[in-house]
Amino acid sequence: MRHQLRLEIEETGPLHELWSEVLQAAETRLGRESVESWLKDTGPVSLEEGVLTIGAPNSTARTWIEKKYAGVLAEVLEQVHGESARIAVVVRSRKKGAEPSQAAAAPKAAPAPPAQPARPVPSPLFAPLPLNEKYTFENYVVGQSNRFAHAAAAAVADRPGREFNPLFIYGGVGLGKTHLLQAIGHGLRAKNPRARVAYVSGETFTSHFITSLREHREEEFRRAYRGVDIWLVDDIQFIADKTSTKEEFFHTFNELYLTNRQIVLASDRPPRELRLMEDRLRTRLESGLLVEIAAPELETRMAILQKRAELEGADVPPELVYQIARTVTTNVRVLEAALIRMLALASLNNCGLTPELAGRALAAFVQESQIAAVSLLAIQRAVSEQFKVPEQELTGPRRDRHTSLARQVAMYLMRELTRKSLSEIGEAFGGKSHSTVLYSCSKLEKEMQQDPSLQTLVRALRTRIAGHAGE
Ligand code: ADP
Ligand code: MG
Repeated sequence: MRHQLRLEIEETGPLHELWSEVLQAAETRLGRESVESWLKDTGPVSLEEGVLTIGAPNSTARTWIEKKYAGVLAEVLEQVHGESARIAVVVRSRKKGAEPSQAAAAPKAAPAPPAQPARPVPSPLFAPLPLNEKYTFENYVVGQSNRFAHAAAAAVADRPGREFNPLFIYGGVGLGKTHLLQAIGHGLRAKNPRARVAYVSGETFTSHFITSLREHREEEFRRAYRGVDIWLVDDIQFIADKTSTKEEFFHTFNELYLTNRQIVLASDRPPRELRLMEDRLRTRLESGLLVEIAAPELETRMAILQKRAELEGADVPPELVYQIARTVTTNVRVLEAALIRMLALASLNNCGLTPELAGRALAAFVQESQIAAVSLLAIQRAVSEQFKVPEQELTGPRRDRHTSLARQVAMYLMRELTRKSLSEIGEAFGGKSHSTVLYSCSKLEKEMQQDPSLQTLVRALRTRIAGHAGE
C-alpha cells in the first residue's frame, strides 16, 4: 500500500475516493446527522508519512472534528485503507481547487475563511448527541409492558407533529425508553433525511445552557435549540433544579410546540412527580400523550433475550433463555448483560451453553435483581423490629439518640439496597430534605468505622433484608 502514501490534494482521484469511502463507513459509527453536519464539506489534502490531512471549511468545524471525530475517523480509515494513519485537520478554503490555507504543522494560525457553507453548520458547542445504530424499531421487542408506548412512538415516527404532541414516555431504569426515543429518531431520518432531528438528554441541555451563559453565547444556544424539527429529550429528570435552566427549557419547549415541531420526552417518572415542572409546563405535557413502559413480563423478557442472542449470532437453547428471564426480572439492560456474560464465559472456557454455566453467569446478577426488589417499607419494618422502635417513631420527629440511630440505619440501608433517590428516601421520613438524608448516611458510616459491633449489626440487617427481597 506504500504507493498511496504520497498523494496530494485533489477534488477527484484515489485520495478523494478513499475519503468518500471513509465518510460512508463512518456513518454507522457517528450517525448520519454528524457526518452530514460536520464532515460532508471536508476534503482530503494529503496522505503522507502516516498522517491523513483533511481540510475543514472553517476553524469551528476544524476544532470540532479534531476533538470529536478524529479518533473514530482514524479507526475507520484503518479498516478501509488497511493501514493506520493519524488524522490532522486544517482549515481549507471552500473555493474549488484552492490551496489549503495552512499546512498541518501550524493549524492554530489558520484563518477562518469568509465563505459560508450552504446549510449553516450548527454550533458545535450545542450539537445534539449521536444516535446508537442498534436502537431501532426493528430491534425493539414489543410485549404487553410496552405495547402502548411502542405504538405511540411508531405513530410519531410516521406522522410527526400531529396527534401525539408532545409524547411523554416514562418508566423505570433499563426498560427501553432511550431505545424507543432513538428509534423515533432513526425512523424519521430514514423517511426524511433532511429533517433536523435532535436527540439530547436533560443533562446535555443543562450543560449546554450553562455553557451558553458562561461564554455569552445565548443567541447561538437558542438558534441551535429552536431550529430543530424533532426534539427528543431523554432523562428530563436530570434537568438541573435551577430556575433559569427550567425557564429556558420551558421557553424552548413552548417555541417548538407552538410551531408544531414534534417533541418527545422521556423520564423515569411521570410529569406530576417531576420537581422541575412548573404548572404551566406540566399542563402542556399532560395535554399530550403520556405512556408508561412497565417492567417486561416473562414472555417479553424471553423474546428480548432471543432477539439479542440472534444479534450476537448465538444459538441459545430455550431452557437457558427461560432460566435467565426467570432470574432477572426488572431491568432489560441487566437481562442482556446476563446473556452476554454467559456467552462470554462459554467462549472464554471454550465450552457449550449449559444450565450450570448459565447459573454461574447469573450469580452476579441475582443480588442485583434482589436489590431492585427491596422496598422502603420492608426496610423500615426490619429496622423497626431490630431496634425496637415503632415505625411511626422511626418516621416521626423524635430525636433521642436511639431513635436517631435507628433512623440513620434505615436511611443508609435504603440508599444501599434500593434505587430510590435521596429525596425519595427523605419523603419516607416525613419530608426530610435530600441533604439531611445524605448527612445521616455519612454520619452512620463514620460511626460504623469507630464501632465494629454497629457495623456487624448493620451488615447482618442488610443481608437479612436483601435475602427477603421480592417476598
Ligand atoms: P432506559 O432508557 O429506559 O433506561 P434503555 O433504552 O437504555 O433503557 O434500554 C436498556 C437496554 O435494554 C438497551 O440495550 C435496549 O436496547 C434494551 N431494551 C430495552 N427494552 C427493549 C425491548 N423492548 N426490546 C429490545 N431491547 C430492549
Ligand atoms: Mg435511558
